[in-house]
Amino acid sequence: MRKSIVAGNWKMHKNAAQTEELLNELIAKIPAKTNAQVIVAPTFVNLQAAAAKLKNTTIGVSAQNVHQAEGGAFTGEISADMLTSIGVNTVILGHSERRAIFNETDALIANKVDTALKHDMTVIFCFGEELKDRQSDNHFNIVENQLRDGVFHIAKESWSKIVLAYEPVWAIGTGETASPEQAQEMHEFIRETIRKAFGADIADEVSILYGGSVKPENAKEIFGKPDVDGGLIGGAALKADDFLAIVTAI
Ligand code: 13P
Repeated sequence: MRKSIVAGNWKMHKNAAQTEELLNELIAKIPAKTNAQVIVAPTFVNLQAAAAKLKNTTIGVSAQNVHQAEGGAFTGEISADMLTSIGVNTVILGHSERRAIFNETDALIANKVDTALKHDMTVIFCFGEELKDRQSDNHFNIVENQLRDGVFHIAKESWSKIVLAYEPVWAIGTGETASPEQAQEMHEFIRETIRKAFGADIADEVSILYGGSVKPENAKEIFGKPDVDGGLIGGAALKADDFLAIVTAI
């Protein structure tokens, strides 16, 4: 059985006090048993405190980025070893904001994936087409290329450490969601692409999350689709009640 996952990407939101407040609320309100693995990704400065706070809870913690090098003269950057040393064993890579705003290329992201895997981290690998790609009916090509260039080089054994997150760029923070049918169509294509390249065992086991304006109101319908295994949540992850409503929609 594939794992269901709901992850909250907090992006550049929440200072130290606000991080503590949201975590306290999540810990207090999360149901004792959820159908999904729940993960939150606060900012780097609050990650150590978050990891310590969440240690004996059912909520996992993730970083939003990692540098590809082991260490060295890279002012302002954070290594995989630093993350695992504070108990952070998951990282979001390939997010469209990293690609578009910070010029991360497929090759760089592939490099980061390798580094994270080398440190036995789980990678939430994000990808997805822009509006122009969908309008020109090029969305399947774009997604296939991002997968091929970002994660197809990894060893078969490493796939247990990969979570895929399909995030159509036109649906991120825009209030516009892919319809459940559009999400299912793409998720099915992604699973088929993985099946062709790596076989049924891996394709049937890999969790594929949907991200892009998921809210309490639309989560159930999107998560109800057979190839959607959960969500990567931005804006709605910043309020405990909204995030937990999404978690319980699975
Ligand atoms: P929104 O849920 O705010 O659209 O963000 C999605 C996202 O980018 C999660 O990584």
